[in-house]
Amino acid sequence: MLELKDSNIHFKENFYFYENFKGVTHKIFEGYLSYQPCFCPKCSVVFDKHFEKHGFITSNIIIPDVVGFKTILRLHKQRYLCKHCNKAFTLSSNITKHKIALVLTKKHSENDIASDNRVSSNTVERVMDSFYETQKLYKHYLPEVLSLDEFKSVKSADTAMSFHMCDDITGQTIDIVGDRRLDNLIKYFFYYDYKARNRVKYITIDMYSPMFL
Ligand SMILES: [Zn+2]
Repeated sequence: MLELKDSNIHFKENFYFYENFKGVTHKIFEGYLSYQPCFCPKCSVVFDKHFEKHGFITSNIIIPDVVGFKTILRLHKQRYLCKHCNKAFTLSSNITKHKIALVLTKKHSENDIASDNRVSSNTVERVMDSFYETQKLYKHYLPEVLSLDEFKSVKSADTAMSFHMCDDITGQTIDIVGDRRLDNLIKYFFYYDYKARNRVKYITIDMYSPMFL
């Protein structure tokens, strides 16, 4: 009914009712967002038994009117506590952000988008910026022979070792990456587009390196 594409949103019995919200009768759809996160967004450690469910946080998300009624998706979002870093985080759904990003691909003024989605034009600007931000991060070049070399860098618990990435033919430095933990390395390499990753034919690496695994 709501055309929600997020399969992590679940509805229980009596999920639908009317409510006076800021003086206006609204249709309210009450849902729960819950799924097993892949990793902790605070410290990047991969999900394991040291993650605990940690209550819910509720958002009232304004969604397009349903048969002329102002409509709200009241979403209870699962929170988790990561025992590795002792920080709590909330699962995200990106419903409104996604909607705005879709509209941005068409020609609309920021003010139109803001009033259609009943958010401020600041929110529209933030979403636009965040999408440009990801584009800026995207890297386009990796050499055919890639050398990964570990070295000791800044003294901090998690990132005591860094790795130096260079073109093994020319010796040119491609990047210095401050965190060699594997889950971060995977994330890191996905910042390179497919064409760049596909260009790499050989990787040279120290046999004693933990990265060898
Ligand atoms: Zn954590």
